[in-house]
Amino acid sequence: MLDFTFTEEQEMIRESVRDFAQRKIAPIAMEMEKTKQIPEDVIQGMAELGLIAPTVSTKYGGQGFDAVTAGIIAEELSRADPTGSIPVFYLVQASWGHVFNKYGTEEAKQEILPNVTKGKWFLGIATTESDAGSDVLGTRTTIRKEGDHYIVNGEKMYISGVREAYTRGGGHITIAKQFPDRGAKGMTMFYLPLQQKGIIPTYVDDLGREGISTGGFTIDNVSIPKHYLVGEEGKGFYIVHEGYEYARGLIAVICAAAGLKSLERGEKYLKERKAFGLPLAKFEALQFRLAEHYTKLSFLRLGSYWALWTYDREGQKKATRFEVSKAIAMAKMFASEWSTQAIDEVMQWQGAFGYTRECTDQAAWRAIRSFAWAEGSKEIMRVIVARELLGKEYTAYK
Ligand SMILES: Cc1cc2nc3c(=O)[nH]c(=O)nc-3n(C[C@H](O)[C@H](O)[C@H](O)COP(=O)(O)OP(=O)(O)OC[C@H]3O[C@@H](n4cnc5c(N)ncnc54)[C@H](O)[C@@H]3O)c2cc1C
Repeated sequence: MLDFTFTEEQEMIRESVRDFAQRKIAPIAMEMEKTKQIPEDVIQGMAELGLIAPTVSTKYGGQGFDAVTAGIIAEELSRADPTGSIPVFYLVQASWGHVFNKYGTEEAKQEILPNVTKGKWFLGIATTESDAGSDVLGTRTTIRKEGDHYIVNGEKMYISGVREAYTRGGGHITIAKQFPDRGAKGMTMFYLPLQQKGIIPTYVDDLGREGISTGGFTIDNVSIPKHYLVGEEGKGFYIVHEGYEYARGLIAVICAAAGLKSLERGEKYLKERKAFGLPLAKFEALQFRLAEHYTKLSFLRLGSYWALWTYDREGQKKATRFEVSKAIAMAKMFASEWSTQAIDEVMQWQGAFGYTRECTDQAAWRAIRSFAWAEGSKEIMRVIVARELLGKEYTAYK
């Protein structure tokens, strides 16, 4: 039997997140384009409501939410913040908080996760380097064991939340090569605090999501204790994909929500604006575009929740790893594309105003465009789905 409803508890969570997001985030969202940061009272408000890394178990200050419930929060935040800054702040910590909660050591979880869920520290993910993005095995950053410590050297680039972790506290779950001759089995993940000697941050001037930073950092002979390992040595390549999949599912929901919200603004404009003596909403050429985008994004929304539901079913041993990878990749494949196409259409309806920075939708377009790359590009989503359909032996490379 099919049932597309949320539970009563999930509906209550949606209500309270919507209330908070519409009262505290929506009115100030566009200001983040200029201030380039998320206001502290918003972060604290989110923390008080349990919206920062709610996927972490209650023992470490989280809510123990499943992926579908995490998706509901992502959707409401995305509807309230067209700049995408708060959705990114949320999705990164929800996804990688989930991974840390599952694979981190007890000592590290006690030390780090309560600071994250309280909104004091930022927890990010650092896999990408200047020469290695989609191809994680091309990672050049190294980690080697030395006594009861590990020594890390390298550089990470295009990483979300570098300024947040560097200035507020916290760090990034990072991947590095430990055994260069072992391929996928030679990668190790660990928590890297950014506020320490040997870390030098750099920043990039992104096109959008202005309220949260993107940057990189060099890692020069940085020593980390062994309890900062996330999972076992040599398991990093596999663990990182679990986190990516979580994040991709949330991103798909965020894209659908941003696009649908933009269409709502567009509908209002079509009814108000007149041309040739008629409201724009009367022109069928524009009506058809509205109907098409709305339909695509509604299917994207459903597909995204289905993908997150599949993720949760893996935890209940009712879905396999491969089913999860495929479902999530299918959801993210068109997410950014369909959403930016819809937002672009809404900008078009607004005439010349659509091309000004005063137009809310252009900020949404710039934010959502990032998801064609972030946490796995739209091309890599196609690679994953095709691999699951044809079998690994048809992958063109190893
Ligand atoms: C705003 C933003 C925030 C980000 N935040 C983070 C973060 O927090 N942490 C992090 O680790 N990374 C982050 N990233 C990096 C992101 O994960 C990478 O951009 C992504 O994985 C692609 O890697 P790349 O940019 O090196 O492109 P490349 O891997 O060099 O790819 C270049 C192009 O070739 C395509 N391509 C590559 N291989 C194939 C193939 N086999 N078949 C077909 N096409 C292919 C890609 O899809 C892409 O279009 C962020 C990126 C952005 C834009």
